Amino acid sequence: DAGLSKSRNGFGARLNKFLANFRHVDEDFFEDLEDMMIESDVGYDMAMKLSDSLREEVKLQNAKSKQDVSNVIIQKMVELYDEAGENEQTGINFAKSGPTVIMFVGVNGAGKTTTIGKMAARFKKQGKKVLLAAADTFRAGATEQLDVWAKRDGVDIVTGPENGDPAAVVFDGVKKAKEEDYDILFVDTAGRLQNKVNLMNELAKMKRILTREIPDAPHEVLLVLDATTGQNALNQAKLFKESTDVTGIVLTKLDGTARGGIVLAIRNELHLPVKFVGLGEKVDDLQEFNASEFVYGLFK
Ligand code: GDP
Repeated sequence: DAGLSKSRNGFGARLNKFLANFRHVDEDFFEDLEDMMIESDVGYDMAMKLSDSLREEVKLQNAKSKQDVSNVIIQKMVELYDEAGENEQTGINFAKSGPTVIMFVGVNGAGKTTTIGKMAARFKKQGKKVLLAAADTFRAGATEQLDVWAKRDGVDIVTGPENGDPAAVVFDGVKKAKEEDYDILFVDTAGRLQNKVNLMNELAKMKRILTREIPDAPHEVLLVLDATTGQNALNQAKLFKESTDVTGIVLTKLDGTARGGIVLAIRNELHLPVKFVGLGEKVDDLQEFNASEFVYGLFK
């Protein structure tokens, strides 16, 4: 868990340092808290919501000691995270029967291929029959990179020619998954944000093909975001959310950021659940996300 504790360290270390200097609750306390939150990528809006609700709750509970105040901060962070959600489903939404189809979207470099590789290994280990569809046909080397993961994980893969129609790969993938009784189909896609209309059409076409073969597919559309890109990640996410029905977030590279507060900003601005976090480049560096564990961890 070195990765997550590192990301906790950045945000958590700031929080703990802030609390170490605690004397009493006054206006300066709240202002310093707001500054600290914003520096940690919590986002302006979330920082203000937090400090407003803390002001109320501290008064209500008559919290005076450092311990009381810490408890109120934990309570309010978890509450605000939960309140910001539309979709309370944690973990993967599996198909009732037949293959579960999980589409991955996100810009190049966000960590889609790596996340698929990690997740495929995890489900393979659980005894599931896993198929990958390399539908990112535009990025040079994307198919080869996914193929390396497939070999390493010992799972099957469907590929197409470079610059070929990604929807054709999706078609081959979903047919194979159905005919050969796979449990899970992972679909890697190209994240070309340069042209939103193209992206929308491409994603819509893929979804149409999936739905024709399996009526309730895709069961998940996971948006992969690079935590180190801060506000940029949020802006990309908004575009993807407008382009397709995203069901959850995978936040990668939390090991590489000192500002784990982005978790709260994403939740507040996108109202989507963070389902998994990436904590490194290796196969085991993927964790299911749990908000209260994350928040409690910040105060360790
Ligand atoms: P894609 O273009 O979205 O498919 O992105 P890739 O999967 O190719 O990832 C881009 C780079 O980020 C690669 O060098 C990965 O090893 C790296 N990467 C992906 N996830 C993580 C993570 O959670 N932590 C770290 N440190 N690196 C990651």
